[in-house]
Amino acid sequence: MKKKNWLLIPMLLVLGLTVLAGCGQKSVASEDVLARDKANKTVVWGVKSDTRLFGLMDIKTNQIQGFDIDIAKELSHRIYGKDVKIDLVPVTSNTRLPLLKNGNVDALIATMTITPERQKQVDFSDVYFDAGQAILVKKGSPIKSVKDLKAGTKVIGVQGSNSVDNVKKAAPDTRVLQLADYAQAFTALKSGQGDALTTDNGILYGMSSDDPNYVVVGGTFTNEPYGIAVNKGQKPFLKAINKNLKAMRQDGTYHKIEQKWFGKIQGFHQGR
Ligand code: GLU
Repeated sequence: MKKKNWLLIPMLLVLGLTVLAGCGQKSVASEDVLARDKANKTVVWGVKSDTRLFGLMDIKTNQIQGFDIDIAKELSHRIYGKDVKIDLVPVTSNTRLPLLKNGNVDALIATMTITPERQKQVDFSDVYFDAGQAILVKKGSPIKSVKDLKAGTKVIGVQGSNSVDNVKKAAPDTRVLQLADYAQAFTALKSGQGDALTTDNGILYGMSSDDPNYVVVGGTFTNEPYGIAVNKGQKPFLKAINKNLKAMRQDGTYHKIEQKWFGKIQGFHQGR
């Protein structure tokens, strides 16, 4: 063998080892999130920023505020300690699952219903909030419940929400207009692009508390149990979340947060 070729062997070896090491590396989404966040003293939550009462950007303070945010902060402090850095990343109903699965966020607390379809893709915590789907209309509208959504009516929903599928089942003849987020959906209702807006009652009550010319009618027609979503394989993280959710309920912290956001919302209560 020529001298030159002898050099090739170690070079190929190094190359091969590099490729092997690359294959062995875990993807971002499959790292042990609990251990990593403990080491980095940072946790990243995907939250809504377009949803009054749950997660809404306050443009004056540039802070996202709401029920989901307070639960996320409380959980972060209990799991990782008071000095943990809490990153809140805005998601929409449509972007949340890909952002979690790509590892851009550690968990989602974003008005997200636990559904069998979603459970195939991610894991959910125990139920932390009980919502139900309803409809919002302009005061005085002839539409009094989901039963009045017939051929010739148009209902507004949001992409990536299960509300859109639910309403197609409950009112198969109505037309459904899908917008990118709840801020745009409410603006579309107010500008007359649809006759009603449909999603979970808590979100709709947030809209009517912002503009009382719009009212929630007809009660709920589905059950929407909210869960915190994490990637599959994150059992220690999920366990820590569930343990602390339970403790928050037992020591009254959950009730305090619930009262802070929903205590003054007339007509709203969790469950059916
Ligand atoms: N809870 C429903 C869902 O998870 C509607 C609210 C939302 O769009 O986040 O799709």
